[in-house]
Amino acid sequence: MEALLLGTGPAEAIPRIGHDDALCRDAMKPHSKSRRLRSAALVRSGETAILIDAGPDIGYQLASHRVQKIDAVLLTHAHLDAAGGLRTLSDWASAHGAVLPVYTEQATLRRYGAFPGLAYRFVKSGATAKIGSMSVRFLRVRHSLLPGFPTLGFRIGRFAYASDVASIPAPTLKSLQGVRTLVLDAAFWFERKFRGHLTPDLSVKYALWLGVEHLVLTQTGHTYPPHHEAEAFLKHYARSRAPGLKLSLAHDGMRVKQA
Ligand SMILES: [Zn+2]
Ligand SMILES: [Zn+2]
Repeated sequence: MEALLLGTGPAEAIPRIGHDDALCRDAMKPHSKSRRLRSAALVRSGETAILIDAGPDIGYQLASHRVQKIDAVLLTHAHLDAAGGLRTLSDWASAHGAVLPVYTEQATLRRYGAFPGLAYRFVKSGATAKIGSMSVRFLRVRHSLLPGFPTLGFRIGRFAYASDVASIPAPTLKSLQGVRTLVLDAAFWFERKFRGHLTPDLSVKYALWLGVEHLVLTQTGHTYPPHHEAEAFLKHYARSRAPGLKLSLAHDGMRVKQA
């Protein structure tokens, strides 16, 4: 199983218009890993492909990676950065003659209405869906900005993904036991915690508690230093605080494998 990270950024893509700070300057360089689109991933196993989230960048993300097959879509939540590209996804479905099942909660229908080519499947936290060769478990996480806003993480075998997280409730932590590869929110840099999002140290705590082998930090935002600096610091941090844990800072286009 492989997850292709189509986007690893926060609610606003990086670089931002009119910015001249170190991160945005670095992100403007060609092929910079500091450049981040809205978070999304394509999880593939055998012939099955599952898209996680469809934010405003989804058209570019699917086109630039030449994605020709999607069997189902999972939405973390109904906010714009995760679901604002549903209309584009509907166009993609029409162009490919497909009807895409979209696994989500009722808030998505209330906010955006229905789209041709997209078939909502409403799920409850704790439920499981079989999609092709993959079995997906839907797990409640606490949203960063609005703690009560319905937000999901996903477990697929020994892989799990949760990109907009303030904290992981106890029942979800229990359901994540045995996960080896965890792609998790770390939106704000260490002391720069804001709006409830996780920071690298808090994400590492969850990873250590769960005993995961590989933690991938995603949805990383504008309080981070440029990618290469952040990555060097995090490698050092992991060596001293969490030896044995493989810690990666996600970047757009990264491939995360899980056997
Ligand atoms: Zn900036
Ligand atoms: Zn949100």
